Amino acid sequence: MVYAGVDVGGTNIKIGLVDIKGTVIADNSIRTDKNKDYKGILEDVVGDIKLLCRQAGIDYHDVAGIGLGVPGVVDSRTGTVSYSANLGWRDVPIVHGIEVVSGIRAEAANDANCAAWGEYKFGASRSMDNVILVTLGTGVGSGIIIDGKLFDGVASAGGEAGHMIIVKDGKQCNCGLKGCWERYASATALIEQTQEAMDKHPESLMHEVVKEQGKISGRTAFIAANKGDDAAKKVVEEYISYIATGLINLGNIFHPNAIIIGGGVSNEGAALIDPLEDMVNSGLLASEHNPKVRIIGASLGNKAGLIGAAALVM
Ligand SMILES: [Zn+2]
Repeated sequence: MVYAGVDVGGTNIKIGLVDIKGTVIADNSIRTDKNKDYKGILEDVVGDIKLLCRQAGIDYHDVAGIGLGVPGVVDSRTGTVSYSANLGWRDVPIVHGIEVVSGIRAEAANDANCAAWGEYKFGASRSMDNVILVTLGTGVGSGIIIDGKLFDGVASAGGEAGHMIIVKDGKQCNCGLKGCWERYASATALIEQTQEAMDKHPESLMHEVVKEQGKISGRTAFIAANKGDDAAKKVVEEYISYIATGLINLGNIFHPNAIIIGGGVSNEGAALIDPLEDMVNSGLLASEHNPKVRIIGASLGNKAGLIGAAALVM
């Protein structure tokens, strides 16, 4: 038996066949054809699952379930995408839709929740029952696991830590609120902070790094800081302190075993994780009397979403 995991994104859809141990047997990625309605997109997905089966020498009838991770609000109990800004979907019955097209049982959840579930089942936080995954990408995504279960509130509308307000009347967020954590801690925010510092410091090494790399990115400040550039060090320190602010809030509410950091920024490794672990634990209430909250880099990389989606149906 194998399970199909589908990580639906606004630009691409990652699809994989995953076994019961969480090993990806075959995977690829197809373009999200926005000219098609959701049914057309689901037909593309099922066509690709059949292709992967042929390539891997697996009988399509041995696919025991299909799990879907979708960006936005996904009511996993009804199998409906209530709202997805990236895909322009509203009240899409995605589980029923793919079951009709594929003839296979399906489940769906929010993409960050899938990634958290993947890390919990097969990745960095195996054997820990209370974990939170935070992905630092275009936005800040989060998946919260309490006592071995995904927590996402009524109609799966909760668990959105990226939109906790950390600065009252702060920067305008796409969601309509001001001062959301993701406006300060996402990769997008880091690039904005890097640009501001570069404008202020024409002497900074960051300008050289941008020339070498061809463009400004979430890595620019980290690279220049590593070479000793003061302005870049300040950007990195401040950015990490913004991440820590949100993590301390989460830590004080949930006190999980660990908080897993994923998304592109997590590739910075120890330069990010080590100071975060110190800042978070020194910021927690009565920290000297409680077990440490570990801060760990995600281990499944950009396949966490599809592995976690497949794990929904295992
Ligand atoms: Zn927001």
